[in-house]
Amino acid sequence: MTARLEAAPTAPMLEADLQRLIICSSSPEKCLRRVKERCLAHVFGWVGVHFRPAKTRKGWRVPVEGSLGKGWPDLVLLHPGHKRLILAELKRLGHVPTREQLQILELFGGVPGVTTVVWTPFELDSGEIMRELQRSVSR
Ligand SMILES: [Zn+2]
Repeated sequence: MTARLEAAPTAPMLEADLQRLIICSSSPEKCLRRVKERCLAHVFGWVGVHFRPAKTRKGWRVPVEGSLGKGWPDLVLLHPGHKRLILAELKRLGHVPTREQLQILELFGGVPGVTTVVWTPFELDSGEIMRELQRSVSR
């Protein structure tokens, strides 16, 4: 008798899942001590920040002020050694950035040393996210 392998039904990856695979909430030192489940950013020497929404009376909001606040990207990653910055908008499959999000990415896209990206689970599966984080020379 042989066991039949079937693809287990999996839920579609959410933005939060994608974000945690790219950068975890631990310090780089703690992350790299883990044998499994190291995040990609820490493995390749990046540090970063992600602002989580907080629940308010009006629903979930990210408390920011300033003209760049609306549409601010999900992730800001800095590689201190290579003096590179990545601003990443994360989306689940089938979702696209808002007009405000695209405007922010376009604005920062012209700044030397800054790379702006829209990443979905597709870019994770295709290896594009890993390739971007591995690039050692600023563009
Ligand atoms: Zn990590």
